[in-house]
Amino acid sequence: STQETTPQICVVGSGPAGFYTAQHLLKHPQAHVDIYEKQPVPFGLVRFGVAPDHPEVKNVINTFTQTAHCGRCAFWGNVEVGRDVTVPELREAYHAVVLSYGAEDHRALEIPGEELPGVCSARAFVGWYNGLPENQELKPDLSCDTAVILGQGNVALDVARILLTPPEHLEKTDITKAALDVLRQSRVKTVWLVGRRGPLQVAFTIKELREMIQLPGTRPILDPVDFLGLQDRLKEVPRPRKRLTELLLRTAMEKPGPEEAARRASASRAWGLRFFRSPQQVLPSPDGRGAAGVRLAVTRLEGVGEATRAVPTGAMEDLPCGLVLSSIGYKSRPIDPSVPFDSKLGVIPNVEGRVTDVPGLYCSGWVKRGPTGVIATTMTDSFLTGQMLLQDLKAGLLPSGPRPGSAAIQALLSSRGVQPVSFSDWEKLDAEEVARGQGTGRPREKLVDPQEMLHLLGH
Ligand code: FAD
Repeated sequence: STQETTPQICVVGSGPAGFYTAQHLLKHPQAHVDIYEKQPVPFGLVRFGVAPDHPEVKNVINTFTQTAHCGRCAFWGNVEVGRDVTVPELREAYHAVVLSYGAEDHRALEIPGEELPGVCSARAFVGWYNGLPENQELKPDLSCDTAVILGQGNVALDVARILLTPPEHLEKTDITKAALDVLRQSRVKTVWLVGRRGPLQVAFTIKELREMIQLPGTRPILDPVDFLGLQDRLKEVPRPRKRLTELLLRTAMEKPGPEEAARRASASRAWGLRFFRSPQQVLPSPDGRGAAGVRLAVTRLEGVGEATRAVPTGAMEDLPCGLVLSSIGYKSRPIDPSVPFDSKLGVIPNVEGRVTDVPGLYCSGWVKRGPTGVIATTMTDSFLTGQMLLQDLKAGLLPSGPRPGSAAIQALLSSRGVQPVSFSDWEKLDAEEVARGQGTGRPREKLVDPQEMLHLLGH
């Protein structure tokens, strides 16, 4: 019967990797794809990472919604794999399992003072303003005038931009109300973004930099000394990096026109890039109850190209601040003892998405490649994983005979008292959020309490 030939596949995680992998797998005319997600709501970092003032990036949600509406696809939210159900249980119930659970941890600074109040990860800060349930207690203290962000990537720029954007410009976004209230009271006037290496090694991209340079009410602080001699090296630099460096150079070295000069002169807030500085310690305030600054080792570069390394010169410098945000990267966690994990690289070892030495197990997205790359990169790599899985299916490399799929897992979950959230449940929550935003002209007012969400669904 057709029942017997239905490939039952499940995907763990409903971020871009989960949804794009599912989209590709559904090209198989019979395949059934279940997506398990630990949050009661779908879309991963598209909902909880992407900055609230970049709504256009979230349009991918429309594509994911189409995928979820396919009759052979189901969403099971509020199910944490590794806790509510194990990977071996999933492998027993399905012909194949794809792990797309992203990178839920942050890389620690591993320096003294990291645990002080006033120090937090950019990941937690982003989760806080985007409504990630586990970060709603963060309540960052923005009563200081200077914040230091350790890191010079796009996440660091997102955080700096949210800290410095005039709050009235955030009012029409889906930032949480609680975050907006705290940002309205903020006294932060200056934000430093600190990097161990130089202008040629920054990890952010030109669009995000341009947005920062043009941020209303804010002026850039770049030290021309950091850019000396860079002009002559531009020809050796690959194209996207070259355009980015030219923009940095112009901003640092050129005298602005009268209009821009007036804009900068009247700006009440500022941001700057501090290059060649490696954090050594977070300095405590005199009462020990907060951060008073960051001790930085001055560095210089050794080596060329990709191998360029920052080495300390021996000089030290203290940068006073009341808030320290570490933005040196996300990190994946191992999900289950039965799944191989490379803790050094923070990824599941794999060849083109096939988990090494575990037939029938696949991975995609950040947990496959490491926590870098935009949604488009994640899409390409997820389609590739989907392709490998379908090839293996065709070649008869996956278990033969019928598999029970979600029926078996639902029985397990129900015996454990876990109540999954379906995609139509999510659509009810979505409608509720949109309705709550309407009165105030916001695209939505995010629900941030899982208990309230489940209550609204009558669970
Ligand atoms: P994720 O999006 O993290 O999805 C993983 C999902 O798995 C999550 O929903 C998580 O809850 C779930 N999960 C985790 N553990 C379990 C478990 N045990 N059981 C079940 N489910 C689980 N890219 C852009 O193109 N434009 C941007 O503007 C942009 N902004 C970004 C801003 C930030 C702060 C960050 C961190 C990233 C940004 N990116 C942006 C990059 C983009 O978000 C990633 O490329 C993409 O989200 C990676 O997809 P993923 O599915 O691998 O991971």
